[in-house]
Amino acid sequence: MNPLRHSATALALLLALAGVARPVCAQATTQGDVLVLTTGGTIASRATGPMTDGASLVRGIPALATVASVRVDEVFRVPSSQMTPPDWLRLVKRINAELASAPRLRGVVVTHGTDTMEETAFFLNLTVRDARPVVVVGSMRGGDEVSADGPANILNGVRVAVSESAKGQGVLVVLNEDISAARDVWKTDNRRVDTFRSPERGFLGAADPDSVVFFRRTVQPHTTTSEFDVTRLETLPAVEILTDYAGFDSTVMRAAIERRPRGIVFTSFAGGRLSGGGQAAVRMAGAAGIPVVVASRVPGGRIVGAPHSGLPRILARDLPPHKARVLLMLALTRTTDRAGLQQIFDRY
Ligand code: ASP
Repeated sequence: MNPLRHSATALALLLALAGVARPVCAQATTQGDVLVLTTGGTIASRATGPMTDGASLVRGIPALATVASVRVDEVFRVPSSQMTPPDWLRLVKRINAELASAPRLRGVVVTHGTDTMEETAFFLNLTVRDARPVVVVGSMRGGDEVSADGPANILNGVRVAVSESAKGQGVLVVLNEDISAARDVWKTDNRRVDTFRSPERGFLGAADPDSVVFFRRTVQPHTTTSEFDVTRLETLPAVEILTDYAGFDSTVMRAAIERRPRGIVFTSFAGGRLSGGGQAAVRMAGAAGIPVVVASRVPGGRIVGAPHSGLPRILARDLPPHKARVLLMLALTRTTDRAGLQQIFDRY
């Protein structure tokens, strides 16, 4: 064996023994290095048996070797319904550390379940500290289903991660050949593979078979322009979500206040309108000194101005409740002042 090969093999063995993420697809003609971090989800699932480990997931896609030199590591192996805010913190710290220590890395791909992909992607969008692409991918069909969409989504995620045009676009969600902005994307269908859409603003771009193209940019701050620094945080401020409904019983709010959350997102009807009980509930939270963000249950358009302008509430504008919760958790690390929080919701 030639000595160079020999030392490379020895190094690989050492890294493997040390549990360090290892290259699973490498070829001289690739467009660069990409780190794939796996977290579980349907993309790692099969009808029977345990979830596939990260390395096997990527090893099953030989075409990757023509695109990038891929290093893979498993961060979690869970359905995304089990992801928690501490898990988001662990994930973003890992991503930031990897990007900071590897200037040659072109980008990072995160494989993730689709149930809470919107939350994780938006959180990363606000806390990743680098302009290089971070691409979140998942699948609607398990690995052993007919027309499993996972392998193509991972391949396209890596193609986007090495693409020069994806730099500075914020965190991206790539499924079904569509590139979505983490801020705007919604899961819109319970089953179909074209579930990830941005109803109000449209896709950011496409991972077409011949090229990766972008149609527009996100103007709200993200990644390198975001003000949120979670480097030293071990937990995020607790934020509850409550939902208004016809005939809302405001004692539900009393129960929530007793848990002393740092903030509450209140899901309203269209336009931010609230039931009588809902209005009483917002007043109650205001009197208890807990900021309440009103987010509409309706997907299209922003909440503006009236109604209920006398209530102590912050408007989520066009963010849905689950994303308003992510932003409120981060915003509360900067300020608890209602006007200051509204400014953050207006900006992001
Ligand atoms: N249960 C899955 C999850 O982990 C759903 C999916 O990935 O599509 O979110």
